[in-house]
Amino acid sequence: MKKLIRGLDKFKQSYVASHHDLLEQLSHGQKPRVLFICCSDSRVDPALITQTDIGELFVIRNAGNIIPPYGAANGGEGGTIEYALEGLDIRQIIVCGHSHCGAMKGLLKLNKLQSKMPLVYDWLKHAESTRRLVHDTYPHCQGEELVETLVAENVLVQIDNLQTYPVVRSRLHQGKLKIYGWIYNIENGEVLAYDDTKHAYVQPDYSLIDETPLKDHEAVEGCPLPITASSQGLSSWYGNSDTFSVSG
Ligand SMILES: [Zn+2]
Repeated sequence: MKKLIRGLDKFKQSYVASHHDLLEQLSHGQKPRVLFICCSDSRVDPALITQTDIGELFVIRNAGNIIPPYGAANGGEGGTIEYALEGLDIRQIIVCGHSHCGAMKGLLKLNKLQSKMPLVYDWLKHAESTRRLVHDTYPHCQGEELVETLVAENVLVQIDNLQTYPVVRSRLHQGKLKIYGWIYNIENGEVLAYDDTKHAYVQPDYSLIDETPLKDHEAVEGCPLPITASSQGLSSWYGNSDTFSVSG
């Protein structure tokens, strides 16, 4: 706690002191451009990894970056999504999974969870499609590779869940919304983005950044989805993208 109190002081002395104009402007309202959905995991920090400032990201965080399908839960996710799109006119959503996700590991030991953490057990039911799909499609996956496969597929399952929301569906239909799937790698800070034409996680599209030309938007070696039964090393997904860094 001492550390946090010291941090409050430091924040006031340094950040607040040098961002008066921004904070004054934000006091009149927010205009975030992106809804960022990620895990509660302490090792994932959306503003830090995207080098964005206060006011730029509207964020939903929960265990496993899960979005319950429309009508399936009374949590805050649905209302937050609706407000983001309808109230703030946000036009881009990123669903970001991460390596070593504890929630995805939880999917592998649901029986234990049911008695020890019944609320987590209930919550992870919204990722049952992820568990089932990976179990049936990747029978030879084990250990870390299995967890990484769950992480990767879960991002796609949750993007599907997002599309069950009427406001999301409608905006997509009107061409007013784009949804992106990302995976953040804790070890090296790299991010891979899902490319639905390649059905693979690839380096993010550099053409979206004005100052950096599109360099190499190819699938990262060894990470096609679905992988075959020969159990390719999914850990190599993260290792080969050394040209990418979020801060640009
Ligand atoms: Zn996680």
